[in-house]
Amino acid sequence: MIFSETVRRYERLCEENDVPAETVMAYLVELSQRERYDLYVHFEEDMPQDLALEFEKGMQRILNQEPMSHVLGYSWFYGYKMEVNPDVLIPRVETEELCAQILARMDEIFPDAETIETADIGTGSGAIAITLVKEEPKVHMTATDISEEALVTARRNAAVNEADIEFMCGDMVKPLIEAGKKLDVLVSNPPYIPAEEQMERSVVDFEPHVALFGGSDGLKFYRQIFRDCQAVLKEKAFMAFEMGWDQREAMSRLVEEMLPSANYEILKDMNGKDRMLFVYFGCKGA
Ligand code: SAM
Ligand code: GLN
Repeated sequence: MIFSETVRRYERLCEENDVPAETVMAYLVELSQRERYDLYVHFEEDMPQDLALEFEKGMQRILNQEPMSHVLGYSWFYGYKMEVNPDVLIPRVETEELCAQILARMDEIFPDAETIETADIGTGSGAIAITLVKEEPKVHMTATDISEEALVTARRNAAVNEADIEFMCGDMVKPLIEAGKKLDVLVSNPPYIPAEEQMERSVVDFEPHVALFGGSDGLKFYRQIFRDCQAVLKEKAFMAFEMGWDQREAMSRLVEEMLPSANYEILKDMNGKDRMLFVYFGCKGA
């Protein structure tokens, strides 16, 4: 089988099955461990048989709406390889932006700190926690999740990426309160999809629902964190959240109501959608 013919055939099948056609080359690049240009240079050559077999097997799953990251068993986040499986949310590119914005604010707000006590609530694969530890050596990280299964994967990802993280199992802020944590930075990408929302099959059939749904308006977990956060935050501290693109108004109301002494801003992602909430205590005008 020739590379070009195989790729074209699967691109057509993707289009017929509502799967983005770019998935074909993306999958081939990962599976063959070759650069894209290198594949194109040899595009009219025969595909090695073992590669062709594995590629066809994986493409069948992808055509059946299974996420490519599940077929591969990993996904890339901020340049780090993260094992993923049905126990954890596949980390999204928007969340990489959240990490970049957090790192910039750590530099700005705590330029002289020796350590930055940080917690990641609902760590899933561990993507956010691992990235912050690797990119900012001053970060002391505690990462929590309610899912024991997710924590098994997060621990493995931390070990493989050599990130020193304290993991705790529990409900939102509770384990941090019980451990007497005092934080400079609290981060969370909680489940924020409203319970009744219609979603793509590749997400709803393959990703853990405990990672997706945030009550009837999607804001249930922000309410819990806003209610309890002051028990674990230092006087000067900030919180960083991912949020849904259509939650700006409801979120603003919630912050103003529940955290009147704080200052906050909502930032857009690279697609121009409202995506990140930063809440400041004792800094940045608050
Ligand atoms: N932090 C990861 C990321 O950004 O890719 C995963 C985020 S996922 C949207 C939300 C995570 O919150 C899931 O791992 C889920 O298990 C966890 N979670 C759900 N309910 C929770 C709760 N009550 N307490 C702690 N974690 C919870
Ligand atoms: N961004 C994810 C999605 O659209 C949801 C993540 C979340 O609920 N925090 O599938």
